[in-house]
Amino acid sequence: PASLMEELVSLCKRRGFIFQGSEIYGGLQGFYDYGPLGVELKNNIKAAWWRANVYERDDMEGLDSSIIMHRMVLRHSGHEATFSDPMVDNKKNNKRYRLDHLVKDQKADVIEKVAAGIGEDASNFPAVVAALIKQPAKASEVLKAAGVRDAFSGEVGDWTEPKPFNMMFKTTIGPVADEESYGYLRPETAQGIFTNFKNVVDSTSRRLPFGIAQIGKAFRNEITPRNFIFRVRELEQMEIEFFCVPGTDEDWHQHWLDKRLAWWEAQGIPRSKIEILDVPPEDLAHYSKRTYDLMYDYPTLGFEEIEGIANRSDYDLGSHTKNQSELNLVAKVSENNDSIAKLTIPHPETNKPLVPFVIEPSAGVDRALLAVLSEAFTKETLENGSERIVLKLKPHLAPIKVAVIPLARNREEITTVAKAIKAELQGLGLGRVLYEDSGNIGKAYRRHDEVGTPYCVTVDFDTLGLGGGEGKESDPALKDTVTVRDRDTLAQERVKISELSGWIREKLR
Ligand code: ATP
Repeated sequence: PASLMEELVSLCKRRGFIFQGSEIYGGLQGFYDYGPLGVELKNNIKAAWWRANVYERDDMEGLDSSIIMHRMVLRHSGHEATFSDPMVDNKKNNKRYRLDHLVKDQKADVIEKVAAGIGEDASNFPAVVAALIKQPAKASEVLKAAGVRDAFSGEVGDWTEPKPFNMMFKTTIGPVADEESYGYLRPETAQGIFTNFKNVVDSTSRRLPFGIAQIGKAFRNEITPRNFIFRVRELEQMEIEFFCVPGTDEDWHQHWLDKRLAWWEAQGIPRSKIEILDVPPEDLAHYSKRTYDLMYDYPTLGFEEIEGIANRSDYDLGSHTKNQSELNLVAKVSENNDSIAKLTIPHPETNKPLVPFVIEPSAGVDRALLAVLSEAFTKETLENGSERIVLKLKPHLAPIKVAVIPLARNREEITTVAKAIKAELQGLGLGRVLYEDSGNIGKAYRRHDEVGTPYCVTVDFDTLGLGGGEGKESDPALKDTVTVRDRDTLAQERVKISELSGWIREKLR
């Protein structure tokens, strides 16, 4: 039988959530396109995040900065030097792998041999990888001796020395391609927030503590994109940089950990499916004082990162500011003689210029969407023995909130009423309401179960007092009512058209 991940991939394609990028030319690895329902689900996830983190707080501002950035930004952020993953090539077929992925995917006895060969314990996988990177010549020998297989050919490979591979996409800016005319596609949205720190402070009169939120695309030239939308080369992030007085940073770190866990739960991800990884010091990114990774139990993949919540200390603003030596920075930063701005803010009590600490909750939209779909995907056996697939999405995330279905598409009295109901419900501002006259009502119900539409509203002959389709008498009590079908309970209820808006609004609140 197909795994849950396979079923999800198939549903996403069949119903128009997610397609392979550039599919009609054979596809492009690591790129996906969001279809008619995928774009709605994605927008709803982003809106829920924005609502919780910007609108419902009084200490946050929003931002939408540009994707292509000055090379100096990514130089002083540390990305030019350190934003890389270790890679190895198989000389037999010129296939390239991310070292840690390659080793992790081997059989247990091969991993044992690699670990022993490099002098580490196999149970401490990060240490094994770190040792392989530190001793590249030996690593190449160890991979060969252990019989590490190529995932592509299945054969034992002839491995090169591991070397770092920078994951940033570089591009030329302007008509002349010379040494100075390149820029980068941002590998995280965060840098746009740091470079606009002063603009936001000056234009909003914010004082500490406060945060800036941004949702947008980021680009990483992943060596081995895989696992559907889990690891892609064009991704979307929802990031917060929360600026605070040094010394209060650990409390704010805890605050954001709690807030973010509560948010995931509100999106239908139970607390029991998320593990908090307190990242060990040796695995921390170059900017981090401490990081909690939220690990979600993805189907097939197991626990993998869905969000990172990092204490970035004063590293970022400290790296991008001028006059670094006067600012008592805590983080080790490289010298910056390019910045023209002093990135300080007055201390709330002493008013002395201060470089604040930063707490960064950074979540991936694509990974969020995959988790939300995984939790919502449900297979049920009905009383009559048939099976139904239903996406039990939280209503605020559902791509279509209500489908309005005329029971007969060629009866104008019925379609007119159905269209009027669609227009009225659409006006509630709850999201997409679909007028659906594709015919067979059973098929429509099945489709809307599969895409997670919470309610289907059916306009039938009784609504118009016309009597049933098979020459039945109409029940006068049913005139001016519609049938509302509940996705989860399958209950069907007659609701007065005059009360329908209020009814739906109440249910979808
Ligand atoms: P990983 O270790 O899985 O590569 P990371 O630690 O590099 O992830 P961060 O740099 O912390 O990830 O990025 C923050 C968030 O952005 C991640 O928690 C994840 O949700 C998302 N993300 C990062 N890389 C990708 C990617 N290649 N595809 C999809 N989402 C990603």
